[in-house]
Amino acid sequence: MSQSNCLFCKITNKEIPAEIIYEDDNFLCFKDINPKANVHLLVIPKQHIENLNDLNPNDKKHHEIMSNALMLLPKIAKEQGLDDGFRTVLNTGPGGGQEVYHIHFHLLGGGNLHKL
Ligand code: AMP
Ligand code: ZN
Repeated sequence: MSQSNCLFCKITNKEIPAEIIYEDDNFLCFKDINPKANVHLLVIPKQHIENLNDLNPNDKKHHEIMSNALMLLPKIAKEQGLDDGFRTVLNTGPGGGQEVYHIHFHLLGGGNLHKL
């Protein structure tokens, strides 16, 4: 389940510190160490999944994780006071600019966002 060489598994296991702002049995949300907006959080499932290419359509847990993650994002955004909205980014693979191979949703807002 947990990959010993994975940075975000290490954060999940509290082997590496992070500014955790939300945690439940299945998800963790912490501040991005190099913020690209006034608010820049990362929401990750505790289960190690590399990225969207690693999802198995026959795995019910994968379906559950992905839909619950989407439900969790607006909840955290509201808790962080992002009442006027937020941006969600999910990078997949080198072509998508992914650097950490443990699936994560970037949650950005609070101003200072570049127009896509
Ligand atoms: P990505 O490029 O989509 O893989 O995003 C990886 C993100 O993780 C980047 O925005 C980094 O700034 C962020 N990051 C890298 N190391 C850490 C860390 N130790 N704690 C928090 N965020 C990190
Ligand atoms: Zn991992």
